[in-house]
Amino acid sequence: MFDQSQIDTLRDAPVPPGRLLIDGAWREARDGATIDRLTPIDGSVLTTLADADAADVEDAVAAARAAFADRRWAGQAPAARKKVLLRWAELIEANALELAVLGVRDNGTEIAMAAKAEVGSAANTIRWYAEAIDKIYGEIAPTDDGALGLIHREPVGVIGAIVPWNFPLMIGTWKLAPALAAGNSVVLKPAETASLSLLRICELALEAGLPAGVLNVVTGRGAVSGQALSMSMDVDALVFTGSGATGRRLLEASPKSNLKRVYLELGGKSPNIVFDDVGDIAEAAKVSAAGIFRNSGQVCVAGSRLLVQRGVADEFVAALSEAAAKMRVGDPLDLTTQAGAINSQAQLDQVLGFVDDAVDQGARVALGGQRILEETGGYYMAPTVVTDVAPDHRLFRDEVFGPVLAVTTFEDEAEAIHLANATDYGLAAGVWTSNLGRAHRMIRAVQAGVVHVNTYGGPDITVPLGGVKQSGNGHDKSLHAFDKYVDLKTAWIKL
Ligand code: ADP
Repeated sequence: MFDQSQIDTLRDAPVPPGRLLIDGAWREARDGATIDRLTPIDGSVLTTLADADAADVEDAVAAARAAFADRRWAGQAPAARKKVLLRWAELIEANALELAVLGVRDNGTEIAMAAKAEVGSAANTIRWYAEAIDKIYGEIAPTDDGALGLIHREPVGVIGAIVPWNFPLMIGTWKLAPALAAGNSVVLKPAETASLSLLRICELALEAGLPAGVLNVVTGRGAVSGQALSMSMDVDALVFTGSGATGRRLLEASPKSNLKRVYLELGGKSPNIVFDDVGDIAEAAKVSAAGIFRNSGQVCVAGSRLLVQRGVADEFVAALSEAAAKMRVGDPLDLTTQAGAINSQAQLDQVLGFVDDAVDQGARVALGGQRILEETGGYYMAPTVVTDVAPDHRLFRDEVFGPVLAVTTFEDEAEAIHLANATDYGLAAGVWTSNLGRAHRMIRAVQAGVVHVNTYGGPDITVPLGGVKQSGNGHDKSLHAFDKYVDLKTAWIKL
């Protein structure tokens, strides 16, 4: 980890314009268009980004296709690809301070979190998949003596990866690392408000020896370059993390173009369920507060609905509110900050709108509820706890993606299960209980891709992350992530 004085030396460093990476070269959009990149720290212009259009995206896809077709990457021995990827991870670590500060100035995440969850996690993810690739074998089928059935694993081809702004390096490498490790070529589309650290790690990938054209990046507006990528006739699979609305568009683009496969990770409205047999209330409340308010709630697995059993509700909500009120919200470049900025003015407005609607629908703001530090010019919001939230409230059902916790009480286990599953989402959940049988019953009953028990957050790269219901399909992380980036091919040989 680095110290505050090191961070401060880079706080105002000039940021070069973000450009497109196509076939190993950095360039402007063909028409020279750019967009301004405002930092959420104080709303000032940080730099500009190339605003790619459909022609630029076609160039990137063509470069990726050419790189895949001549096997300049897929044709290398797994051990050779591993070496390049391990060097990439090392370079990311060697540039950790610069990457963390750049990323934070771009997207507003508090730096203590970004150092670990962004830069540290990116290097770790790349290393994990690099180390896996020369240990995965093909299969021989259990045929009779007259035949030999071989099952080969082959890279899919050109992968389009569209990623969000909350954890660009973490989520970006969850997709890039297994895709590249498996031998695919990639066209990456970062979010408009979190491209800079991804661009920098792609530069480091070239330095590590990734051949030109294997990894390409198109920046700019999602509705233009992201849309063009989704409609490309030469992208084999699209992997996405972001909103449900965009996810639907990507699914629709598939039959309108080349029937590309589409894998979506679409966020959640995750229940954090506290029973009256919870062990240490103060500890559970502290962890639950972090589980919603870190990165100002801009976390797809955030425990954004607290379902609490009536007997402990008042005590638990008080303890959680106390922990939340103590959280230091503010300058994301201060190492002691526990919740940084909201990513953009538009996002802040949307989050505040959710609180207004909840109050209109009869809920009660028990903590926070307002914008803070407006004098900085940045986008900050107080950790907010809203009680008396009912299942028909928008705050109960829709993803806020901000520091707003919706609290609902329940009577018994059956009601807890009913409430937990009463949204369209199914990404994550938490269960707090000292009853082992109840914990396992809840794991089975709650519709979610991950159920935390007596904790919230923390699953590492060894386990998959993916949703059920409208939280999406397909999994990031773990060896299961390879399923999206590998095709099975059968060879049937008569003996
Ligand atoms: P959020 O609302 O959280 O910003 P989005 O789904 O809009 O989520 O953004 C996630 C990613 O999707 C970003 O990289 C964004 O640029 C991209 N994106 C936005 N709109 C589209 C679209 N119509 N087609 C493809 N990608 C898009």
